[in-house]
Amino acid sequence: MSSLSVVGTTREGVSVMLLKEGSSQTRGRDALKNNIEAAKIIASMLKSVLGPRGMDKMLVDSMGSVTITNDGATILKEMDVQHPAAKMMVEIAKAVDNEVGDGTTSSVIIAGAMLEKAEQLVKQGIHPTIIVDGYRKAMRQAMEILNKIAEEVTADDHDVLKNIAKTSMESKIVSVDSDVLSDLAVNAVLAVAEETTHSETPTDNHHFMTVDLDNVKVQKKPGGAMRDSSLINGMIIDKEIAHSEMPKKIVDAKILLLNSALEIEKTEFEAKISIDKPNQMTMFLEEETRMIKTMVKKIVESGANVLICQKGIDDVAIEYLTKASISAIKRVKESDVNALAKATGARVVSNLDDMSSKDVGFAGLVEERKVENDKWVFIEKCKNPKAISILIRGGSERVVEEAERSMHDALMVVKDVVQKPAIIAGGGSAEAHIAQKLRTWASGVSGREHYAILAFADAIDSIPITLAENAGMDVIDTVASIRSKQISGNNPWIGVDVKVMKVADMRKKNIIEPLAVKEQVLKSATETTAMMLRIDDILAAARGAAGGM
Ligand code: ADP
Ligand code: MG
Repeated sequence: MSSLSVVGTTREGVSVMLLKEGSSQTRGRDALKNNIEAAKIIASMLKSVLGPRGMDKMLVDSMGSVTITNDGATILKEMDVQHPAAKMMVEIAKAVDNEVGDGTTSSVIIAGAMLEKAEQLVKQGIHPTIIVDGYRKAMRQAMEILNKIAEEVTADDHDVLKNIAKTSMESKIVSVDSDVLSDLAVNAVLAVAEETTHSETPTDNHHFMTVDLDNVKVQKKPGGAMRDSSLINGMIIDKEIAHSEMPKKIVDAKILLLNSALEIEKTEFEAKISIDKPNQMTMFLEEETRMIKTMVKKIVESGANVLICQKGIDDVAIEYLTKASISAIKRVKESDVNALAKATGARVVSNLDDMSSKDVGFAGLVEERKVENDKWVFIEKCKNPKAISILIRGGSERVVEEAERSMHDALMVVKDVVQKPAIIAGGGSAEAHIAQKLRTWASGVSGREHYAILAFADAIDSIPITLAENAGMDVIDTVASIRSKQISGNNPWIGVDVKVMKVADMRKKNIIEPLAVKEQVLKSATETTAMMLRIDDILAAARGAAGGM
């Protein structure tokens, strides 16, 4: 970047300072070139992780802790990207991750390819605005092509959903266990799915399902094997019951949730009492005990037999609670307490003085169980059956962490299909088909946009190309074979099966993905590309200045 303190000149010829001294400005072609370079670097970094034959990345943060992953979104999240255009690439991945949960690597690769092709067109003298228009047109056409080939499925078809989950895990380190994990993902999503009959227009009154994944909590514990992972109809609290003599298994639990400490704040006394005689000390302690006894009495009166406390519980209180056969758990995370309120129908109480039996929640079973070396409390058969937990087990910390990330993708893709029951096949088949159809369609579009559409088609082809490349296959042969077989067999599902390194019908192999993911990938990649192509000026504040990029 050429550094300058930016000065503008008014029509009267007076110079004005537009930016703070030390700021820099990059203009026109240079700005575009600069941004495209940065975006291309990010895309090329991610290329090698795409698909089942993709490599993994080892990420080491500034504290030296290591993450090994194949997840595009995670890689970008952990990388401390500084360049503004590179940051935009990271944003695409984030957007795709939030919306549909999978396809993050693909979106970045496609955006990188779109920018690279655009750069060539700009060099040939086509204005960025024309390219943006052409790309947007091509994107809309691509959506139509996708929707034409998409296969409608039923929202609760277990086999289809399982294959959707499995495909999302094909590229992950945990893919050997994808059978177990994908069953868990499907069962969890179906357990929390809700049918909505709400109609968008008065005439079109069709049913659809909605899934709130906040109801599914994923917990992990290294140790054991991945196949020991399980689905719990309820919640898991990673804390033990406070006293060994409290009941460890409570059937028909009445649960009280408290977000304040069950102890007497010592400061309440400090101001009032100065102890100078021995019997005053005894009185003081007796008073404290009496107050705690009153608190526990209130809990007993509420009818609760389980107390879940967000803060600490005094030893004296523990003693009284034990005598009253109330099982208590202390120092439970606020988020867990709030989730428990939803699951058990309890109200979170902050002051025992204004509490009634109505505030108490319900669960069919509360039980402390041993999980590896810890004791955790399982709260099952909750009043609200839509509270589900997945407990992930596996050989090591790193494995369960990657399994947790893969579970996120799996839950999201299953949710995608439950909410929008349409699928397409993977292995680059859909992308190759779109590219092919777009090239034909482009011949009917005249002018310079024609070239932009062709460039867009080439960019989408980067998915089958990269999949083949990562598998060590001959790229030119593979892509040519996909094209000719798609046309001769009139079959859009011909793609590359990288596992056996062959061109094959990916639908038949059950390598399937949500339509929603492919749509989101193309939309996000196109939008970010368009945004970047329209930038012809980069104004950057000096490093360290407030609001600097
Ligand atoms: P993303 O972050 O884009 O989801 P992935 O690394 O998960 O990236 O790779 C997804 C790609 O891998 C998709 O295009 C999908 O169709 C493809 N894929 C999954 N399984 C196979 C397979 N067995 N053979 C070929 N491609 C596959
Ligand atoms: Mg994926």
